[in-house]
Amino acid sequence: MRVRFRRGILVLAGLICLSTVLVIGCNGVQNESFVSNRIMLGTTCKITTWDKDTDFNAVWKKIAELEKTISAHDETSELAKLNGKAGVEWVTVSPILYQAVSQALEIAGLSDGAFNPAIGVLVDLWGIGEYVENKANEINPDNVAAPVIPSDSEIAEALKHIDWHSIELKTAEDGSFMIRIKDKGTEIDLGGIGKGIAADIAAAELARQGVSSALMNFGGNVMCLGARTDGDKFRIGIQIPFEERNNYSQVLKVSDSSVVTSGTYEKYFVDADGVLYHHILDGGTGFPARTGLLSVTIVGPSSAVCDGLSTACFVLGLERATQLIGMMKGYGAIFIEEDSTVVPVGIEL
Ligand code: ADP
Ligand code: MG
Repeated sequence: MRVRFRRGILVLAGLICLSTVLVIGCNGVQNESFVSNRIMLGTTCKITTWDKDTDFNAVWKKIAELEKTISAHDETSELAKLNGKAGVEWVTVSPILYQAVSQALEIAGLSDGAFNPAIGVLVDLWGIGEYVENKANEINPDNVAAPVIPSDSEIAEALKHIDWHSIELKTAEDGSFMIRIKDKGTEIDLGGIGKGIAADIAAAELARQGVSSALMNFGGNVMCLGARTDGDKFRIGIQIPFEERNNYSQVLKVSDSSVVTSGTYEKYFVDADGVLYHHILDGGTGFPARTGLLSVTIVGPSSAVCDGLSTACFVLGLERATQLIGMMKGYGAIFIEEDSTVVPVGIEL
């Protein structure tokens, strides 16, 4: 089913980086908090801790290193160089890239390719995520060219080059990590899991520093380390799709968990006929996934897994995604359907 919005008007979402999940204050008395923000990973990243000795710079350094490794928008990133060797040879890669690609392939396997890290050429063809991020400061729609919907032949061509089985990993005899993209036309894209990997790295670094209570919000991708210092759980609100910010469908109470949402309402455009095109693509059709969902929120221990699963579940649709979540011990999901029905799976609301 096609979702129709303001007919004839081009709507650009994500201009002010909407958060899908937001952290809500409580009335309990907490220790003094310490906050640090950065624009990284194409979004606003915020860390709050309740520990005056937090070394935020050490965390940001690790996230910057990850970004330099896996960014799809930086031609000098290690991932861009690996993509440049597609169809040519095995490439020795850093442990960070190896780990990121292995995590992505794991979610691809679990989701039968609904999460597809080999989807790069299709993502480039649609250019939706990139388009919105690049225009983030150009609010005036007169300034921006209307996005172009790819032709059927362009989509058919891209679909020939998105098989995730083309990505191979191995460890060399000397212990170094290697990746090969067998097909020349295939590109790896880690945009669907990158913020989750970053949140896991940040949480691990804070834990290493001895921080016991922290909240990370990387563009709506939330990770909680420990619980609040007053002993309560953190409260994370799930945004109602297409409503003004801070309108919550549910408020989840969590500790030591990540909460990640994928939805149609973050990065999208609407064509002259009012058809909405968003940035979560279905590798089967080559088009933005249309499965009757507006958003999927995943809760669980690893932010990378939550991030990958949220994208995968969106593409799978409610029925198949429910089966997938049922296989994932420790993970739960909240689906919001196009008619606004909220469906929890493996979570008590
Ligand atoms: P966001 O990055 O906005 O939080 P997601 O985590 O759902 O949202 O990731 C969307 C991004 O993932 C897209 O911008 C694109 O880079 C990539 N992507 C799109 N479709 C898929 C897919 N089917 N599998 C894996 N990655 C995808
Ligand atoms: Mg994701």
